[in-house]
Amino acid sequence: MYTLARTFGPLFLFVFLFIAVGCDAVSTQQESEDQNLSNEEIASQVEEAFGSQVTELQIREISVGEVTQELEAGETTLPFVTPENEVIEMTFRGRPANLRPDSVDTGILRETPDTLETVPLPEEQSYLLGELENTHRLGGVTILDDEETMLRGVLRHSDYGLSYIQSVNHVLQTDEYPNLHVIYNAEHTGDFEIGDGEVYSSQDADGEQQGHAKLNVDESASVVLDGDVDFYNADPNTVWRRQESLLLAAQIADGLIEPISSDTWRLDLSIAGQEVWVSGGPSTTNHGTLMNRLEDPSYYLLNSLSEKQMHLFLVGYDVNGLAGRAGGIGSPSGGWGGGSGDNHLFSEVLSRRSLHINRLVLTHEVGHLIGGHHGHSITSGCSGSMCGRSIMNHTITNAQEYFYSDANDEEISDVIDAVLP
Ligand SMILES: [Zn+2]
Repeated sequence: MYTLARTFGPLFLFVFLFIAVGCDAVSTQQESEDQNLSNEEIASQVEEAFGSQVTELQIREISVGEVTQELEAGETTLPFVTPENEVIEMTFRGRPANLRPDSVDTGILRETPDTLETVPLPEEQSYLLGELENTHRLGGVTILDDEETMLRGVLRHSDYGLSYIQSVNHVLQTDEYPNLHVIYNAEHTGDFEIGDGEVYSSQDADGEQQGHAKLNVDESASVVLDGDVDFYNADPNTVWRRQESLLLAAQIADGLIEPISSDTWRLDLSIAGQEVWVSGGPSTTNHGTLMNRLEDPSYYLLNSLSEKQMHLFLVGYDVNGLAGRAGGIGSPSGGWGGGSGDNHLFSEVLSRRSLHINRLVLTHEVGHLIGGHHGHSITSGCSGSMCGRSIMNHTITNAQEYFYSDANDEEISDVIDAVLP
């Protein structure tokens, strides 16, 4: 149904050579053929899981243990898929992303207010990637598991755009394929409707907006990361790092939450707490009911939210018709910091969904929370030095670059000014 990668032949040859050279024991031809066949099957299984989300992809073995060691030493090489669906090796300088302060060291597994467990958070294993010559952010990766078999992240090349890496085991919900990863370029992703267009109409600036933008370089805010039972059950061993990976994915590459290019605002989002439901918790597929539940002051969250914090609820199941929703359209009086009940959002992060969609839905909803409107989005064009597509459009496309429009930049800047000192 989907076009197999044109370079699959050479890829399989490469995989064969890699296996032949890489194994301590001598691989027999038969074993390698089995591996080849198996990779082909894996590719079609992943294609089936992704459906129209990803139209061309490659399966690659990435030795996550080696990558981890390299990242700790400050430099690593990763496979990158070009828009022509060819794989090139790119070398990056890596540095720890430091998404959460040392003081945040326990995660909370919730069932009921009487039944909860605090567990040590695993060591953070998220890295920002940059060019060898400078520190400009070209991407970020997270090692999901302590066994070092699952990598997830997004990479950017100035000519070839965005390339994603996802663990086959996570997408297929299995543990059969350690170190195997699906990689694809954003060029080969299908359109995706976030679905919240009906809910939020544009509220144009009322003329009283001053647009007194300032660069909040020293300001920071924090997020409480949360998740439902399905998000937890998708893989209890990687639950905390999957939360971190999604926040990282929303922050890096084009710097959507922390724009590199914007001269009007900047928002450093660190992690204030990590929680998840292990039984009970929200399970409704009605987006309105789900949002009401999250906004209810009695919603059971161990980390109490301040006005400068946001609650990001990551949903591992399909919410009817909506991939995400923010608790309020941000403005100086509403949305983020506009009073309790408005600092919440949910974002679907299904295992079999592409990271391209997951990261852009999350970023879009954060955009709503901090002041972005659909009405200020533009279909394509340039904003500052960035050309591409406005993130506040409610349809995600295969654009290689995303940005907040100048009008949304102004609104977001006002909200940040109102919330942060
Ligand atoms: Zn929206």
